[in-house]
Amino acid sequence: MAVNRVVPIFQGEGRISYEPRPLPAVEAPDDVIVRIEACGICGTDLNILAVPPAHKATPGIVIGHEGVGIVGELGSGVSGLQAGDRVVIANRLTCGKCAYCRRGLDNQCTNYQTIGTTVDGAFAPYLRAPAGALWKISPTVPRDDAALFEPLACALGAVRRAPFQVGDNVAIIGAGPMGLLFALIYRAMGAGSIILIDIAPFRLEFALAMGMDAALNATEIEVAAEVKRLTGLGADIVVDAVGNQMAQAIALARRGGQVILFGLRPHDNPSVNQYTITRYDLTVHGTFVGLHPFAQTIQLLESGYVQPSVLITHRLPLTELERGVELMRTQQAMKVLIDMEI
Ligand SMILES: [Zn+2]
Ligand SMILES: [Zn+2]
Repeated sequence: MAVNRVVPIFQGEGRISYEPRPLPAVEAPDDVIVRIEACGICGTDLNILAVPPAHKATPGIVIGHEGVGIVGELGSGVSGLQAGDRVVIANRLTCGKCAYCRRGLDNQCTNYQTIGTTVDGAFAPYLRAPAGALWKISPTVPRDDAALFEPLACALGAVRRAPFQVGDNVAIIGAGPMGLLFALIYRAMGAGSIILIDIAPFRLEFALAMGMDAALNATEIEVAAEVKRLTGLGADIVVDAVGNQMAQAIALARRGGQVILFGLRPHDNPSVNQYTITRYDLTVHGTFVGLHPFAQTIQLLESGYVQPSVLITHRLPLTELERGVELMRTQQAMKVLIDMEI
């Protein structure tokens, strides 16, 4: 049988082994074979490869879900895609039948599968995916911007939850790739000041180099007082891109402001002062990967107003996936792209 070169296989317990695998082939009428051009390493991949894991994945699969590629072979039932189209991956595979799918809550499907965590993903030269998980994107969008489609969609889905006025001041806790994607979206939307908060100097310098208004090191400064000083009243919108910063997020919001909870830390139980939320009329949005964010994310990328490839600090070949993971884990890299074309 033909082999698809050697691909990294997730083995559980933080391990990857490189094994030969057959080329994926069309099996179902809606299958599409995609020649992967590049795939970003996500925080989720770091969590999958943590010991103990902080995100579930099925051992024996290829991980990777932030892929961009070119359509090859198509099943007989696929419409709207042609060989040669560039596509990006919307990695959620929803059932369409459960009580939540029937209510339009695709992000809460109780039979949720995802490309790159429960079925083979995009850290491989070829991927088989159902046509419904692929979105065509204009070839005018640079490949590396398209590669960040999936994390951008997650951030966009969260941003849409909090009513926004042009000029709103935004504070974002966590200046990693997700926090900075929020910053890029809010800049494009016409935010007033955008303030990033982190504890890693590399990330804070990165945020400033991207043109953000302020970058505060929470180990060096009393962040709530500084945000109040910079904004007058506190931030109109606060994003927790970390996942355990709700108390801090509440402290940064102005009266009547909004808090978006985005980061995922399943094992943390932060305590918050409920009185503050009530007394100061705060709105807290819990958000998870966004409701149907994909069409608008394509449109945003095609507009050119957000160019997420500015976050990419390293492009590595597939054989250096583990090195890329380590570079991100040790925060020597912002975003690492596995480039199948080098
Ligand atoms: Zn991701
Ligand atoms: Zn469902």
